[in-house]
Amino acid sequence: MHDFAVIGLGATGSATAAALIRRGHSVIGFDRFTPPHAMGSAHSDTRMIRAAWYVGSPYVPLVRDASRRWKSLERSSGRTLLRTAGALMMGPEDGRVFAGGRLRDVARPHTGDILLSADEVVERFPWLRPDPGTVTIYEPGAAILSLEPGLEAMLEAAGGADLRFDEPAVRWSASAAGVRVRTERGEYPARRLAIAAGAWTPQLVPELSLPLEVERTVQYWFEPSGPHAATLAEGPAWVWELEGEGTWYGFPPSARGLKAGMHFQAGRGTDVERVDREVGTTETEELRRLFGQYAPGAAGPLAHASVCLYTNTPDENFILDRHPDHPGVVLFAGGSGHAFKFAPVLGSLMADLLTDELPRHAPPIFSIGRFG
Ligand SMILES: Cc1cc2nc3c(=O)[nH]c(=O)nc-3n(C[C@H](O)[C@H](O)[C@H](O)COP(=O)(O)OP(=O)(O)OC[C@H]3O[C@@H](n4cnc5c(N)ncnc54)[C@H](O)[C@@H]3O)c2cc1C
Repeated sequence: MHDFAVIGLGATGSATAAALIRRGHSVIGFDRFTPPHAMGSAHSDTRMIRAAWYVGSPYVPLVRDASRRWKSLERSSGRTLLRTAGALMMGPEDGRVFAGGRLRDVARPHTGDILLSADEVVERFPWLRPDPGTVTIYEPGAAILSLEPGLEAMLEAAGGADLRFDEPAVRWSASAAGVRVRTERGEYPARRLAIAAGAWTPQLVPELSLPLEVERTVQYWFEPSGPHAATLAEGPAWVWELEGEGTWYGFPPSARGLKAGMHFQAGRGTDVERVDREVGTTETEELRRLFGQYAPGAAGPLAHASVCLYTNTPDENFILDRHPDHPGVVLFAGGSGHAFKFAPVLGSLMADLLTDELPRHAPPIFSIGRFG
């Protein structure tokens, strides 16, 4: 019997398996596909790791810890995982991006972040055209994470585990003797269980009725274009709230192109088994229009588009907790569009709970109980 079973080997599950292996435990892990794959939340090139978004929240120590752990994984794996490119956080002062006092907290001198007016943005990054009232926080230290190499490195770090790909878990049970995971191929006992199944979580814990919403979102890669095409790659990335139009983001071009998309769109909730994986022409036009107005000329021909999934909680905070009825079962869910950067820390917190070690910082905002 293995010490621990892990269901789901995406961002958090692979990090959980790696953390348990590092602590000398035996682990068996299952994924319904072969990660990295394009069916869940962890695919498509790049993710941002930035701190300004979290200033004043319990995520601050986690994001610092995560940066340190990604750097360590970068060294031990011999892969290039991080690139400092800076990031812009942009929007109206009274909008969603700057809600909760973010602007006040971030603009303090000790953070190293820089408050820019719309004119100053254009001066520094001449391909961008913010409206006059746009407030911008420039975080020069923000980095771009290479997603697929990061996930591969994490799975390698979990290499001592018995990792079973293309083997979905169909159900599990827990008793005083331990847990049993039933897959399409067999039944496996373990002492304890971690569930990190992303958008599929409700299928594995229907009894909890977790308020998770799966959101279909599209990422686009355009060929960099215009007079600044060569400098776009230096950065920064941006997350930019537009009054009445939602929030869009852009990444400095990688080999695949200049990646952009919409962040959180109301009414895009979907059933994980019925996600429309095709990208329609009208969807692409929405992004083209935003580029035309706010980064004119930067986006050339569309190179690629891909559907990705957010799994959102109502408050956008993660769920990382023990199962209320089975203390030997620990759950991560609700990445809410921002969990990848935290993966190594989340894996470590999962391992702390599974091994009864005191979590160094598992904030109460992650508890299942908060939903009442
Ligand atoms: C477009 C987009 C942009 C994003 N940008 C950022 C960003 O810039 N920064 C950031 O930090 N985060 C970002 N995120 C969020 C981040 O990628 C996710 O929050 C994170 O990947 C969630 O991790 P997870 O482990 O919960 O889920 P996943 O990484 O999706 O892993 C879940 C795994 O469980 C497996 N699984 C499911 N059911 C079963 C089963 N029954 N049996 C076995 N295996 C199963 C799946 O196959 C999958 O591999 C973004 C997400 C998207 C979609």
